[in-house]
Amino acid sequence: MGGGSGGVRASRVSASYGARVALAEVDRLGGTCVNVGCIPKKLFSYAAHFRGDFEDAASFGWTLGEARFDWATLVANKDREIARLNGVYERLLVNNGVEILRGRAAVIDAHTVEVDGRRRSARHILVATGARAQIPAIPGAELGITSNEAFYLNQLPSRAVVVGGGYIALEFASIFNGLGVRTTLAYRGERLLRGFDAELGERIAEEMRNKGVDVRLNQVPARLEKTTGAELEVSYADGTREKTDLLLFATGRVPNTTGLGLEAAGVRLAADGAVEVDAYGRSSVESIHAIGDVANRLNLTPVATAEGMALARTLFLREPTAMDYENVPTAVFSDPNVATVGLSEQAARERFTAVELYKTSFRSLKHALGGSKERIFMKLVVDAKTQRVLGAHMIGPDAGEVIQGIAIAVKLGATKAQFDATLGIHPSAAEEFVTMREKAA
Ligand code: FAD
Ligand code: NDP
Repeated sequence: MGGGSGGVRASRVSASYGARVALAEVDRLGGTCVNVGCIPKKLFSYAAHFRGDFEDAASFGWTLGEARFDWATLVANKDREIARLNGVYERLLVNNGVEILRGRAAVIDAHTVEVDGRRRSARHILVATGARAQIPAIPGAELGITSNEAFYLNQLPSRAVVVGGGYIALEFASIFNGLGVRTTLAYRGERLLRGFDAELGERIAEEMRNKGVDVRLNQVPARLEKTTGAELEVSYADGTREKTDLLLFATGRVPNTTGLGLEAAGVRLAADGAVEVDAYGRSSVESIHAIGDVANRLNLTPVATAEGMALARTLFLREPTAMDYENVPTAVFSDPNVATVGLSEQAARERFTAVELYKTSFRSLKHALGGSKERIFMKLVVDAKTQRVLGAHMIGPDAGEVIQGIAIAVKLGATKAQFDATLGIHPSAAEEFVTMREKAA
């Protein structure tokens, strides 16, 4: 049930192991990531980055004509690429012998699924229905949008308020700002990116401010109203008000388990609605499994696909395979990127008696000629006893690309000395990860 990142991968790999597989999808194949997540978001993010590149270009001697941005072109080109990907997913499934059932699926019992009134029986049922945006219950909340709608706006607003301080909030605030929208990021807490290394949350707020985003902390929206025409006014709990053309709630996502018949079939759900599963993706009903966002562990596409592959091995190769959640790298595609693998300083201090820190903050050579205030930040968290690198963190251009490589070393348990023994690629920003010698206080 569900043809997103997890469901498609689990179906395809299970079929390649000899299983007879049918996949039910109510919407478009590829799920959140392909249609309204990772892919269109990254395309929008590329679009937004051109602004900084155009500004930098002048310091390298370029004179450009007036830069103009056309939202409709971006959306149409993005839609074309996604339609192509929908087709790729369909062919992948069909070529692997997976039967695609178009429609909404629900569980009837431990071995029966109904898709739009038609029942099918199966030895195993996989719930991979993903998650959906949740918005705060404040008066006028329905006037706001979620990331789903942000991908299909008829026109780009002049002003936008983005509510939240996590992945989607930072990414969309950066996208809007880069595309020329006057953007406020309103976060209820003291520091952005809760759960990440605290310095990342502090520094990305500064970086985003330097790029023009009005980052406001301790700011809780209390009411949303229509003023004149399409204009909205948001009132915050501290009494301040702000007029805007668009308000985007990026306030978290909840597992898609309502109306699936799971509880009636005996499947235990957690308080947040997630399917409770064991290390092998099995729910409280032996034949019903769950992977991806609906199980709400680490809600990232590579995690959902890895869980899908682990489940396929467990069920159809009879090799019980548990998913490994240690050292999963991740990036927030804000401008600049934030990327991380392993433990934050705070998490490391809880788990290890002594940690050593190495940090650097510098202006990139690319910005040496121009006026950009952007600074790159890197941090290593090291276990003082074993000298193992426990965490690597970065803010800067393409931090996601850099940390992907560093993640291999961290996953393999590399020590600080092994980082140091690695030569840098000069001149690059990433080389700083192997040249930090001074312990930070
Ligand atoms: P989904 O991909 O959500 O797939 C679930 C599918 O189930 C959907 O197609 C849905 O239509 C279908 N479905 C639901 N109910 C039923 C039903 N009853 N019957 C039939 N079908 C049903 N992750 C990253 O790793 N990198 C990123 O850059 C990134 N960016 C993101 C940006 C945004 C704006 C969002 C919202 C998410 C982003 N994510 C990103 C997270 C990523 O998209 C999810 O972790 C991933 O899609 C989860 O895969 P899934 O298979 O669990 O669920
Ligand atoms: P996150 O959990 O990352 O962030 C949600 C934010 O909303 C937090 O800052 C949270 O604050 C705030 N919030 C929650 N409830 C309220 C409320 N009632 N009022 C005001 N603020 C509130 O979720 P996102 O929606 O950004 O993204 C969902 C998930 O999708 C991510 O966690 C991630 O797993 C995945 N994703 C991954 C991406 C990537 O890999 N690049 C990109 C986008 C999404 P607080 O911290 O105080 O609780």
